[in-house]
Amino acid sequence: MGVITERVTPQAVRGERIARLGLFMRRHQGSIAALQWAVVLCYLAMVVVPVFLPLPSADTRIWGSFTRFTQFMFWGVWWPCVVLSIMVFGRAWCGLLCPEGTITEWVSWYGLGLGIPRWMKWPGWPFVTFIGVALYGQMISLHQFPAATLLILGGSTVAAVVVGLLYGRGKRVWCRHLCPVWGVFALLARVAPVHFSVDRAAWDGAPSGARTSRRHPVNCAPLINIRRMESAAACHMCGRCAGERGAVQLALRSPTAEILSVTAPETGYRADASNLWLAWLLVFGMIGAAQGAFQWAVSPWFAAADQAAAAWLGAHGVSWLLHPSGHWWILIDYPRSGHVFTWLDGGMLVAYIAAEAVIVGGWVGGWTWLAAMLCELPWWRMASVFSFFSGANLFVGSILLAWSQDTGAVSLPRWAAVVCMGLLTLAALCGAALAGRLARHHRASATLAVLAAAALPLGAWAVEFFVWRKL
Ligand code: SF4
Repeated sequence: MGVITERVTPQAVRGERIARLGLFMRRHQGSIAALQWAVVLCYLAMVVVPVFLPLPSADTRIWGSFTRFTQFMFWGVWWPCVVLSIMVFGRAWCGLLCPEGTITEWVSWYGLGLGIPRWMKWPGWPFVTFIGVALYGQMISLHQFPAATLLILGGSTVAAVVVGLLYGRGKRVWCRHLCPVWGVFALLARVAPVHFSVDRAAWDGAPSGARTSRRHPVNCAPLINIRRMESAAACHMCGRCAGERGAVQLALRSPTAEILSVTAPETGYRADASNLWLAWLLVFGMIGAAQGAFQWAVSPWFAAADQAAAAWLGAHGVSWLLHPSGHWWILIDYPRSGHVFTWLDGGMLVAYIAAEAVIVGGWVGGWTWLAAMLCELPWWRMASVFSFFSGANLFVGSILLAWSQDTGAVSLPRWAAVVCMGLLTLAALCGAALAGRLARHHRASATLAVLAAAALPLGAWAVEFFVWRKL
């Protein structure tokens, strides 16, 4: 008698390994908690200690000062790595490492445990808080001065503690509703090739009360209805629900799967309103405003407009606008190191970022709207094809910022400019290809419209790389 052997494909082996990794995470929550508290300690040291040290001089490199080192670690390593990691591993940063998430969840065990108020569920918060922090961060130079870093990051942590003490019991209400980057992370997590998948039929078919371990009932800190979870947008990848009812497992998927499917993020909001606000955030925030925030410091247009406005104001006797604010927490004000912003500088900075958000975001949004019209799809759905591009935008911008901060140089090696442009162009092409796949008809037109949409932000980057950062 012949023996029938079942052929095991490499994909099946990979899937099995990934699923086992999810179960491993569930079994080792104690080790994950230890890791999280170690990160909390490092984070507190890096945010608080530099405030008590003297400001480094402009030519100090990262190994010459703890302050310069922490700036580089925050903005040159941490932020770009978080952006990249979310596009690859989903929001594992949130669930496994984020100090604010750890603290807010912990304090909420001992707080009032109130219900989440209605105002906090407004779906526009991700847009408003991201834009607000991006603007304010530039006004006080979040990336450059320790006091500004403490004010914004520390302030956010204090707010997370307050929300944790007031609302929820052992939950991350702050992360779910108010964290300034939750919308950004939700959008980027949609393209992650790793996620926790839920088999709803298996869930429903499991005997009631069935759990993989009685000792670990699931506490989904970001308040997700796990049975109904279809999107990776809100999942913190903590692993606590892995294996639950034999229906939840860590799994691989195509990075485009979620964009091409008609899922709505598990946000607790009405799907349309939530998706619309997230699309605004993607187009006007992560592409338009972010590009303005990354570019103003090297833009000769900004410098020229600022000088022209100063000359005009001086000639017309409006001198108060040419004075510094006198407070570093309103506008950059460090006379000893020669960094001082006048009211005019601050106003011009806000105007420049707002103008780039409106012009670039409006251009991208307009072409996307045209593509959506042609394909008879909702605008927010077509806008989601820019997920890869928006992630690349944030990644490249942060790397450039760190480069300028560490070297003190504006110019960029040619190879670095070419690599950055290549990455952005690839991300734009991915978006165009996705538009073609999303479209039920007029595929070529949708693809071309998305390419046209990407042309302006790409052109703006090209001007920065090859003209402003003269090679
Ligand atoms: S659904 Fe909730 S419990 Fe499960 S991995 Fe995501 S965040 Fe953790």
